[in-house]
Amino acid sequence: MHLPYEEQLAAKQKKVQKLLNSFGKVSPVIGMEDPLYYRNKVHHAFAWSKRTGAVHGSYQEDSHKVVMGKDCLLEDKKSQQIIDTIASLLPSFRITVYNEDTGFGLLRHVLIRRGFSTGEIMVVLVAASPLFPSKNNFVKALRKIHPEITTVVLNINSKRTSMVLGERNIPLYGPGFITDLLCGKRFRISPSSFYQVNPVQTERLYAEAIRMAELTPEDTVLDAYCGIGTIGMTASGFCKEVTGVELNAAAVRDARTNAKTNGVRNIRFIAGDAGDYMEQRAAEGIVTNVVFMDPPRSGSDEKFLRSLIRTAPDRVVYVSCNPETLARDLKLLTKGKYKAREIRPVDMFPFCDDIETIVSLKKTT
Ligand code: SAH
Repeated sequence: MHLPYEEQLAAKQKKVQKLLNSFGKVSPVIGMEDPLYYRNKVHHAFAWSKRTGAVHGSYQEDSHKVVMGKDCLLEDKKSQQIIDTIASLLPSFRITVYNEDTGFGLLRHVLIRRGFSTGEIMVVLVAASPLFPSKNNFVKALRKIHPEITTVVLNINSKRTSMVLGERNIPLYGPGFITDLLCGKRFRISPSSFYQVNPVQTERLYAEAIRMAELTPEDTVLDAYCGIGTIGMTASGFCKEVTGVELNAAAVRDARTNAKTNGVRNIRFIAGDAGDYMEQRAAEGIVTNVVFMDPPRSGSDEKFLRSLIRTAPDRVVYVSCNPETLARDLKLLTKGKYKAREIRPVDMFPFCDDIETIVSLKKTT
């Protein structure tokens, strides 16, 4: 936190170089001009303190002790104000805070998502039970103070788990999702769908990824680990057709709606495991010219990578938020006759350790 931004970028550049140098030259990291208040998703855990009442913020490292989050320099300011308001309303509505040790109490987390370009705001109240006292009046009181909130969702998480969201979402106000504009397209985002947290840098990330793919109007494209379809939809205008594959069913529903909303007809989405789908594609001999892959922190897996090599796309663009698993997966791909052409870190997370990296690979034979 105390390192000047330029030094943070230099440290991240060094980290990526150390891990990926053996695959090719690492281009200079793309940093942010204004690296503060960039997070469009703000999540606070709630806990009860005998001394001060409801506290909310982040967990202390390696624990579930909640450290009060006040005036965070990374989170969207408006979202922080809304969470403070929610905390201040709890006593008058007799809303209790969940206690992880005893399993008693109601409110566990608050998650806020704000569409930076649309201004739409989604408040997700994560509760241990659907029996939320006077929920309509609570929403009314909250919206009176923050009329800019466009939807409020009650998410039910009754399990003893570290997962933030449960499976059930009950819209209390508005449509139950927000939309945001990214790369000229409109995207619907549901509570549990993945959406990049730094929209300014996301546009740069996708622009770079698509430039590196050198798409032509004849290309058939696979967008693996596609989330709500953002990369594939952005690429769809530059190629023949796109198939997106994604494990999270809610995200796939968002993706299909997003294709319709934007009038994109050359894209389809498959719900399922990317490795299973790639294996099926390889077995059926389906031609793929270009693969975009953007797996979670744990990286891809052998099933996906080996099938990818079998389907032999001409170009692969790997977008990764973890250079360690990226290096592991690149080892396999480069053994499988792919060569890295460009490696480009993009700083999606200023003032945090994480660094995003795009690697473009080309088939060598
Ligand atoms: N490309 C998207 C999402 C990237 S995040 C974007 O830029 O917004 C990674 C995505 O991979 C998440 O949506 C997650 O649900 C999905 N995912 C995780 N494991 C998967 C698997 N085995 N098969 C397919 N998708 C998976």
